[in-house]
Amino acid sequence: MANFDDTLQRARLAFASGKTRNVSFRRKQLENLLRCYEEHENEIISALEADLRRPKQESLIVETEFMKNDIKHILFHLNDWVKADRPEKSFVNMLDDVQVYNDPFGVVLVIGAWNYPLQLLLVPVAAAIAAGNCVVLKPSEIAGNCAKFIAETIPKYLDNDCYPVVCGGPSETAELLKQRFDYIFYTGSTRVGKIIHAAANNYLTPTTLELGGKSPCYIDKSVELRTAVKRILWGKLINCGQTCIAPDYVLCSKEVQDKFVEEARDVLKEWYGESIQSSPDLSRIINQNNFQRLLGLMKSGRVALGGKYDVSEKFIEPTILVDVKPDDPIMEEEIFGPILPIYTVENAYDAIKFINARENPLVLYIFTTETDVLDLFVNGTQSGGMCVNDTIMHYAVDTIPFGGVGMSGMGSYHGKFGFDTFTHKKSCLGKNLAAIGEKMASARYPPYSDRKASLLSFLLRKRRPLPNLYLSHVLAVGLGVGLTVLANYYLQVRKGKLLSR
Ligand code: NAD
Repeated sequence: MANFDDTLQRARLAFASGKTRNVSFRRKQLENLLRCYEEHENEIISALEADLRRPKQESLIVETEFMKNDIKHILFHLNDWVKADRPEKSFVNMLDDVQVYNDPFGVVLVIGAWNYPLQLLLVPVAAAIAAGNCVVLKPSEIAGNCAKFIAETIPKYLDNDCYPVVCGGPSETAELLKQRFDYIFYTGSTRVGKIIHAAANNYLTPTTLELGGKSPCYIDKSVELRTAVKRILWGKLINCGQTCIAPDYVLCSKEVQDKFVEEARDVLKEWYGESIQSSPDLSRIINQNNFQRLLGLMKSGRVALGGKYDVSEKFIEPTILVDVKPDDPIMEEEIFGPILPIYTVENAYDAIKFINARENPLVLYIFTTETDVLDLFVNGTQSGGMCVNDTIMHYAVDTIPFGGVGMSGMGSYHGKFGFDTFTHKKSCLGKNLAAIGEKMASARYPPYSDRKASLLSFLLRKRRPLPNLYLSHVLAVGLGVGLTVLANYYLQVRKGKLLSR
């Protein structure tokens, strides 16, 4: 059984040495990681092809380019992000220094999942490095070729004491979780998320859980269906449906369903030709376990499109199921494959009722041009995020947080939200020691009296905050007026003296 004592000890000593607090050091590590992605792009694409038969275009867009842009975004903004925040001050703190420092947590653990084996590990790792932490990287063992790449190549670019890579499956991870971490960031299933959360509880370790679930997709009749079908099918079929934010199932009227199936038939032919299995543009299912699980799910409802498979290649044809029932297995567990069930509803109210009777989704997809319909979903449902009239693309917007709520996860990341996730916001009040401040605040000291109490309540009374900017303006104007008065007085005195000579 693996022993992680030494690895953790080295990481703790490295953190205690203070080197990750140095922002230039962090920048250097991030630049090295960026260089790693650039220098090994082909190897990364090959590893993804070996694990998932992932097409090169998808690997570029959702892994290497995504990871490069993520680091560039951090490097552009890091100097601003690390600065202490100076929030608004209340009247009572007018003379004081009120700050929020951005402190790293310490040694953090990042556990990745197999479906996007590089970016799901390395994007949070980059955020943790940016925030000044030491990071233990744990890739998913299920995407074996990518795990090997990470274990062999990343250490050539990053400081080995600060950023060790550890490998292994559930038993090694269970052993690793016995160690004390200062933060745990986990991506994977809700089932394992609960195990991670329970382990973190031992040391009250704060945790981000990026989990899964069923992300619904509502389509109303107002949208141009061809575009909607393309956007939904693309979101469903990249990585062969093995995407946490893939639209899991469609909710629409019977009328929209029939048109959807016809459009989908056409679109699939346009994308993959007559023989989908021969197309190089569709990934394969990661392993036989998941393949067999998906075959089981295909027994729900009626196949309206697709339905073929080939066990030797772990190939499943893009498949649309209709006439599914709410308690069919396909409507109860996360699908994570190229199968799209359609459940018919009368209208948006019905759809909302259906969604709200289930666990909170990671993302809610709405296809509509009607603002009223959209408002019903915005105000009437809970989900990690929403994406309107498209799928997946919200994931790439680095100025909005990505994460789940309820059973789809807790916490978020991407861009500044990632930096903040790995940052402890350390507050600090720096009191002014001037005599006037001490005099005003001395009413807090015993012996207490009614007069002191009313003075204190006057000083502490909530007032509209004085923005720092205005305070400095007021002081500058005051100083200017004061100096002018003094100068005039001096001139008058001199003039008087001269006249009297
Ligand atoms: P996985 O099997 O790769 O597991 C994830 C990690 O957990 C791995 O590193 C693995 O070693 C570890 N692990 C597995 N079993 C464990 C155990 N018993 N104890 C401790 N560690 C253990 O991935 P998965 O769980 O099959 O991933 C698929 C799920 O992840 C789906 O539900 C998907 O929706 C979700 N997911 C969520 C996101 C997101 O960003 N929210 C992204 C990708 C995947």
